[in-house]
Amino acid sequence: MGNPMENQNNFDVVVIGAGPGGYVAAIRCAQLGLRTACADAWLDKDGKPALGGTCLNVGCIPSKALLDSSHHYAFFRHEAAAHGINSSGVTLDIHRMIERKSRIVKMLTQGIAGLFRKNKVEWLPGRGRILSVNTVEVTPAAGAQHPGPITVNTRCIIIATGSLAATIPPAPVDDELIVDSTGALEFNDVPRRLGIIGAGVIGLELGSVWNRLGSEVVILEALDEFLVPVDRQIATEAEKVLRKQGLDIRLGARVTGTGSNNREVKVTYEDQGGKQQLSVDKLIVAVGRKPNSEGLGLDRAGVRLDDRGFIEVDQHCRTSQQNIYAIGDVVRGPMLAHKAAEEGMAVAEHIAGSASAQVNYRVIPWVIYTWPEIAWVGSTARDLEQAGIAYRTGVFPFAASGRARAMGDTTGMVKMLCDQATDRILGVHIIGAYASELISEAVLAMEFDGCSEDIARTIHAHPTLTEVMHEAALGVEDRAIHI
Ligand code: FAD
Ligand code: AMP
Repeated sequence: MGNPMENQNNFDVVVIGAGPGGYVAAIRCAQLGLRTACADAWLDKDGKPALGGTCLNVGCIPSKALLDSSHHYAFFRHEAAAHGINSSGVTLDIHRMIERKSRIVKMLTQGIAGLFRKNKVEWLPGRGRILSVNTVEVTPAAGAQHPGPITVNTRCIIIATGSLAATIPPAPVDDELIVDSTGALEFNDVPRRLGIIGAGVIGLELGSVWNRLGSEVVILEALDEFLVPVDRQIATEAEKVLRKQGLDIRLGARVTGTGSNNREVKVTYEDQGGKQQLSVDKLIVAVGRKPNSEGLGLDRAGVRLDDRGFIEVDQHCRTSQQNIYAIGDVVRGPMLAHKAAEEGMAVAEHIAGSASAQVNYRVIPWVIYTWPEIAWVGSTARDLEQAGIAYRTGVFPFAASGRARAMGDTTGMVKMLCDQATDRILGVHIIGAYASELISEAVLAMEFDGCSEDIARTIHAHPTLTEVMHEAALGVEDRAIHI
């Protein structure tokens, strides 16, 4: 029998990164009986190691906490009166709102630590670096309880190091007046004038938060078209609604420079009219994210990157080295938490010997948490036209839904696109209240290769917003009832 001390640093799987890709992979590996460790370098605001990665610490969760709080505030300011609720005198305590967000983050990240304990995943706080295909060095942060690097041996490695906010030379982040998405979740006061570079998912969500809380928000977007990946009919409706809420969205506006004087930022940009200037109190740079693949020792381990810095992987998320896998934002595909988590589970099962473990990349839901929310899965009308696929469409507006009327949330529609010949659902696009929840029905139907008829013949509770999906499905055969 070997020396138990020797076994301490021997694992079946070492996961580098504990975001939704890495922590899910680690838990699933442990569930499948693999001896698993997970290294993560994240430090919270107090300098303490925290699990959960971008998603829990500075991404999905804190942004949704602020979106929900600001949504309640906007309700009292603009809509409560219509419900017969007198909300005069409603005031904002921004410190408490930010504190609430931070408490939620802490509770959830500590929850992951609990899940690691429950599943016997060994948490190695520190920065991981691959020394060889079977060894990983983990260096704890300066001042950590156990200083000095440790080396662990492992049969397999899963890289889940995620992504970092992209930057552009004309707008260097100073974490004071010019911030990235992380800084934009921590403002102490509501900026009177807020500029945002980039009208992508993150720019629109953060713009919505601060607009609802009282900022005058200008969003500068280099592209001429609004929300390029979104179905045109939905994007047009979204643009109209968001502008009406007060977001000043300037398309075809490429930022070329910034200058700040400790009080305000002057942003220079170019549009069709030539050179323009804008003065703001804070500027958020939301120009996308880049894969976090540097400093991992990939070169030495023989793990290949593509020309944009993503780790190259096959359909099983295996890198150019047989026993090294990579998942989540650091590999191709949408930068979404649920995509990372799904890859994490599939890789764990692949390592444990399941041949069937794989991710269905054709059916990944997308959500933009503005209000109304925007959500979609599958192809847009433009995708189908470009591919020469004949399709039929069913569209149903929320305004014709009894539940939406009762709620007072009547903006938007559900649009279903189905193959003309087979009726298979090819794409579903929603703008409307709780689109993030409603899209699941379409995802499930598409996962089962469902048709509009399957949804049309499914009983939906009345009165619910799900009836809008039902009616859109009926609409594909031109037999919607309530319109
Ligand atoms: P990450 O979550 O980025 O985690 C990577 C982890 O690896 C980090 O903890 C990092 O510290 C660690 N790490 C990196 N290098 C090392 C190393 N060498 N050693 C040890 N550890 C290392 N997605 C959604 O699906 N829905 C949303 O609503 C949503 N909202 C978002 C809002 C914002 C503001 C942002 C910024 C992102 C949002 N995203 C959202 C995207 C989502 O956060 C990412 O897609 C997701 O976190 C990717 O997961 P991941 O596991 O690949 O990496
Ligand atoms: P996303 O990748 O969805 O987060 O969106 C980022 C957005 O930022 C894209 O729509 C880009 O077109 C936009 N963008 C990138 N660089 C600039 C720039 N210099 N000025 C304005 N918009 C930009």
